[in-house]
Amino acid sequence: MAVLVVSGGLSSAGAETLHIVATTSDLASLARSVAGDLAQVDVLIPPGADPEVFEPRPSDVTKLKDAAVVVRVGLGFDHWLDKLLIMHGDASINRRGAGYVDASAGIPLLEVKGRSLDPSGADGHAHGLANPHYWLDPANAEAITAAIAGALGAVAPASKEKIREQRTAYLAELTRSLARWEGMLAPYRGAKLVAYHNTWPYFARSFRLDIVDVIESKEGVTPSPARLAKLASIIRAQGVRVILHEPFEPDDASLLLARRTGATVLKLAPSVGSAPEAVDYASLFDHDVAALATALSASAN
Ligand SMILES: [Zn+2]
Repeated sequence: MAVLVVSGGLSSAGAETLHIVATTSDLASLARSVAGDLAQVDVLIPPGADPEVFEPRPSDVTKLKDAAVVVRVGLGFDHWLDKLLIMHGDASINRRGAGYVDASAGIPLLEVKGRSLDPSGADGHAHGLANPHYWLDPANAEAITAAIAGALGAVAPASKEKIREQRTAYLAELTRSLARWEGMLAPYRGAKLVAYHNTWPYFARSFRLDIVDVIESKEGVTPSPARLAKLASIIRAQGVRVILHEPFEPDDASLLLARRTGATVLKLAPSVGSAPEAVDYASLFDHDVAALATALSASAN
């Protein structure tokens, strides 16, 4: 009886398995969908951790070993990758290398600031050039996967056609899912929300929601009592019923505002792996859209 054995860097198709390294779980999930069994995909930021305070250890450079493709968020979000790439030294995955993917390159960005700003931001937080949370609009998966497929095709030209087919099939499925998600949130079009961190502008634009304010006075800075009083009056005046909160952020300010105003605090997953149900890119939206629809439905009664 024939037994198919997969080992030693060979995929089931017999071709050499590529090694892809992504900075975030979201980009890793999209890379897996495009690459299928052609590649093994690793992620640098541990899923569930706050990506904007992550700092790699020097030993993380070993995770780049044999990497044919690296995929990053860009816009300063994962600025620390530059240090690892320089330590690693391989020109093919450094900037301008065939295997280097800055996934922000083809994205219509929101909250774009002057290009003269330091992309890593003065305080180490990372909304330097534009809002970096662009993976939270499912329509942006098209540009992200195009960039990943382009680099994969360049480093493995023999697999170009298979990569193209896998990407097309994945995007078709995602488009069907997007129609379903839009339907679930359609009754809440224009719903006013407050968020703890400025994570959701792409998500809000995609699903026609209105983020009226952000609790953090700037990225990583907890609000003052005066700011909290102002936020409470905004929440009451605008009829905000739901406060969006990231699982890894301190929640005392959000809970205090909820107590003062009667709004509900809803923890949404900003990335794959930050809620147990969000195991990949599509289930991230399955989880967030269902949780938000439920919270908005309950608060409407
Ligand atoms: Zn952020």
